[in-house]
Amino acid sequence: MKILYDYNIEQLQNVVQQLGEPKYRAKQIYSNFVSGKSISEMTNIPLSLKTKLLENYADAPVSIYKKLISKDGTVKYLFSLSDGNIVEGVVMTYKYGKTQCLSTQVGCRMGCKFCASTLNGLVRNLTKGEMLFTIALANRDFGGTDKKREITNVVLMGSGEPLDNYDNVIAFLRELALTDNLNVSPRNVSLSTCGLVEGMYKLAEEGLPLNLTLSLHATTDEKRKAIMPVANAYSIEEIIKACKYYFNKTGRRFIFEYSLVKGINDKDEDALQLIALLKGLPCHVNLIRLNEVEETGLKRTDDKSAYAFQAKLQAGGLSATVRRLMGSDIEGACGQLRNKHIGGNGN
Ligand code: SAH
Repeated sequence: MKILYDYNIEQLQNVVQQLGEPKYRAKQIYSNFVSGKSISEMTNIPLSLKTKLLENYADAPVSIYKKLISKDGTVKYLFSLSDGNIVEGVVMTYKYGKTQCLSTQVGCRMGCKFCASTLNGLVRNLTKGEMLFTIALANRDFGGTDKKREITNVVLMGSGEPLDNYDNVIAFLRELALTDNLNVSPRNVSLSTCGLVEGMYKLAEEGLPLNLTLSLHATTDEKRKAIMPVANAYSIEEIIKACKYYFNKTGRRFIFEYSLVKGINDKDEDALQLIALLKGLPCHVNLIRLNEVEETGLKRTDDKSAYAFQAKLQAGGLSATVRRLMGSDIEGACGQLRNKHIGGNGN
């Protein structure tokens, strides 16, 4: 079924006019979506219009299928899409607000060896309306309204590769930023990519001041190829060149994510190579402690070694932090997002 929230306000005006209704209905419908309401929950439009809409469009583009709450307050949602697919989303509460980790695809085709989201390949892209509504639903669940938003920050770090769903993701980000939509500025959005270089160059031209995050995870192309198939298509050198271009265009410092995998990329020589590679660049290194995914057999570097690795990077002149572990008891942490909780089509 078609998704009404995939339309912008002007397109929505055409839809309601074609159904014989005045233009202003579009705004009313739109404000309901922003509030996370399905068509059948809308109380400010006539029943006749609702009935006509329900004949052609999915009642809700997304709904909350299940909700899990971690000991640390992190909330993981399993969202069901109108075609029955499930994606996950996580909301983390920080001092400055709430950050929602959003999926951009059902599954993923990048094949990173340590990640759970890619185990079954790519199923499909999420549409703009699905991504927007996922955030609207979390907002609503946290008691927010179309006037008062609870979700202040968004990270595109759920399942999927955002630059592999480029057009929908850009359309989503533009509408997300609108004050009468969910009002999350690109400055409060981090887009994480495994390094699809053409997409990075394109992104630099969009005029969106996003925080660009690069999944590096290795310091040489050989080592990177062993854990990230995408490294066969793009070298680290090409990625760094694209990052510099992005910085020159947008003025935004970039972040490298580096998930520490025991015995694979966490040795002294790796820290030294990382320093040699990144020193002097306007960047920050975010060290992620691997979340172990049973099927991969890869193990996490222990905490002591992770902090020692960070200290080495800092001593070498890099800005580096070890990312806090959040939601790992509910499998809400990086790379653990997958539809394990339902039968069928999964693991
Ligand atoms: N496709 C995007 C978004 C992926 S998820 C990308 O590749 O950047 C966000 C981050 O979590 C990425 O850096 C990803 O490499 C990392 N990640 C994936 N699985 C992980 C795991 N099991 N443990 C720790 N980090 C993981």
